[in-house]
Amino acid sequence: MINIFQPSLGKEEINEIEKVFKSNWLGKGDYVRKFENNFAKSLDKSNKHFLSTTSCTEGIMLAGDLFKFNDNDEIIIPTISFPSVGSVVVFNNAKIVFCDVDKRSLNVTAQNIEEKITSKTKAVFITHYGGVPCDMDSIKEVCDSNNILIIEDSACAVRSFYKNKACGTIGDMGVWSFDAMKTLSTGDGGMIYLKSEALKIIAEETLYLGLPTKQKSGIDSSTSNTNWWEFEMNRPGRRAIMNNITAAIGCIQLKKLDNFIEKRKKIYNQYMNAFSDIEWLRTPPSFNGQIKSSYYFFWVQTKKRDELARYLLNNGVYSTFRYWPLNKVKLFRKYVDDSNLRNTDYISSNTLNIPLHHSLSDDEVSKIIDLIRSF
Ligand SMILES: *Cc1c(COP(=O)(O)O)cnc(C)c1O
Repeated sequence: MINIFQPSLGKEEINEIEKVFKSNWLGKGDYVRKFENNFAKSLDKSNKHFLSTTSCTEGIMLAGDLFKFNDNDEIIIPTISFPSVGSVVVFNNAKIVFCDVDKRSLNVTAQNIEEKITSKTKAVFITHYGGVPCDMDSIKEVCDSNNILIIEDSACAVRSFYKNKACGTIGDMGVWSFDAMKTLSTGDGGMIYLKSEALKIIAEETLYLGLPTKQKSGIDSSTSNTNWWEFEMNRPGRRAIMNNITAAIGCIQLKKLDNFIEKRKKIYNQYMNAFSDIEWLRTPPSFNGQIKSSYYFFWVQTKKRDELARYLLNNGVYSTFRYWPLNKVKLFRKYVDDSNLRNTDYISSNTLNIPLHHSLSDDEVSKIIDLIRSF
C-alpha cells in the first residue's frame, strides 16, 4: 500500500539520540533549548517568542487559558479545522461560531470571517490548509479593526511564508505539530509562538507545573537556597514539556526540512502537470510568488470522489479527506445555525487528498498518476 503520509528518519537521528542517552539527561535540557532556538532562527524570529511542547493540540488548548476564553465569548472556527480547535472552545464554555471556507483552497477568507463577527467575537482560528498560507493581509485587517485575536494553526505550514512572514508568526499566537504524520516529525511534539513575550512566560509556567520560570530547581538551587526543596508556584500548571530525546530528533529533522519540502514541491508540481488536462478533475488553485507553501497536502476535487478513493484503495494507494468539517461532527451540532455553509458541503463530498510525502519514489508517483488518469 502506498501511504498518504510518511515520515523519514535515519541514522543521523539515531546518532543524536545516542548522545542524549550518554548525557544521562533525558528530560528538558540543552537539546530542547537548541531546538527552540534553531526553529525560531529558521523563521527569522527571536527565540523569545517560542516555546516547545508535547503536541500541537497542547498548544491549541493553551490558547483557551492564555486568552481566557469564557462563556461570554464567541470563537470563530472555519468548518475545515482540526478537532482540537473545536475542543478548546467547548472546554472553556465559549461558543463555537462556524464559518465557511474557500471552495478551492479550503482556506478561510477575510469575508468568511467578517460575516460572523459580533460584539462577542473574541478570537478566530486560522488553518493554513495543506501548508498554503491564508490571505493574511485581509484577515489581519478585518480582525485588527474588530479587536479580534488571531490564532494560527500552522500544523500543516511548517516553513510556509506569506509575503516573507512565517505562517504561525503573523497573528497573536501560532502552533505547529511534529506528530508522526507531519513533514518535520519527532514522533510527537509541538511548537508555540506567542507575539507577547509576557504571555510566553505565562505559557512556559502553565506548561511546567506552574513553577516560576526564574525559579531554579534541583541541584542548581542548592547553591543559593538553604532548604532547596522549597518552592513557589505562580499559577496552576500542567506538565507538557518537550524532552531532550524528542528535541534531538527535531534538531536533525530541522536540518533536513528544506530538502523534504523541495522533494514534496517536485511531486506536487508533477501532479499539477499530470492532471491539468483531465476534465472530470480539479487540481488545487495555483498561488503567486509572494507565497511559499510547505506542500503538505495535494488534493483533487471531483464529483466521483468516493469511487476514486475506492478505486485507488483497491489498487494499493491510500487516499483520504482532511479535515472532515467540524459542523458535521455530532459533538458540535448544537453550534450549527441555519447559515449557509455551501462551500463546506461541496468540499466534503468532492475533495480527496492523495499521497504526498518526501519518501515517495518516482515509480510510486508514476503509479498514482497512471491510476488516476486511467480511472
Ligand atoms: C496534525 C494537526 C494538528 C494536531 O497536531 P498534534 O501535534 O497531533 O496535536 C492540528 N491542526 C492541524 C491542521 C493538523 O494537521
